[in-house]
Amino acid sequence: MQILIVEDEPKLAQALKQGLEAEHYEVKVAATGEEGFFLVNTEAFDLMILDLMLPGRDGLEALVALRHRGLSTPVLILSARDTVADRIRGLDAGADDYMVKPFAFPELLARLRALIRRGRADEILRFKVADLEMDLATRKVTRGAQALELTAREFELLEYLLRHHGQIVSREMLAQDVWREVRRATSLDNVIDVHIARLRKKIDSDTALKLIHTLRGVGFMLREEAP
Ligand code: CA
Repeated sequence: MQILIVEDEPKLAQALKQGLEAEHYEVKVAATGEEGFFLVNTEAFDLMILDLMLPGRDGLEALVALRHRGLSTPVLILSARDTVADRIRGLDAGADDYMVKPFAFPELLARLRALIRRGRADEILRFKVADLEMDLATRKVTRGAQALELTAREFELLEYLLRHHGQIVSREMLAQDVWREVRRATSLDNVIDVHIARLRKKIDSDTALKLIHTLRGVGFMLREEAP
């Protein structure tokens, strides 16, 4: 789950980034409207947290331009502008939610979860293979009764394997869809293998039923039976 924060106040941007990363979201920060506009047009984000008073291009202008281009990413405006008229302007410009600064971080998290659920109303939000379960809305992963602590990358990697449950997942697919690095000079294979090994340790080391399988020279597969 990738979140873009567009916020020019460095302290707040860092605090948000750290708080969201602690919740296992992947986070990028843009300090200006232009940078935010550029990033959102070049990378896929699941959510955007947008400040309004930004240097250069105003947040509202950027939002109108993005919606005009057909961008459907859910946007939560996080602004010090607190009048009813401000909120109406923000929502009418294409925001999905509006929060006023100062704000309570747990409430921001709850609102983000609500946006994720709404955005994925017709999508699967829970995966279950054997006793491995992943809940995309709460970001919880469990194996049996054991809650697992995954990094953001491990979470994404596992989500990808679960979405392709029972299918072969090649390293090329992971490089492109999970690492999102297609135009790289050097191969990501070693990096991918290290992450798979770490994930496997967390998922499979304490149990007889192994779920992540390596297919030599081909890739990986998540399923109950060894392929
Ligand atoms: Ca600002």
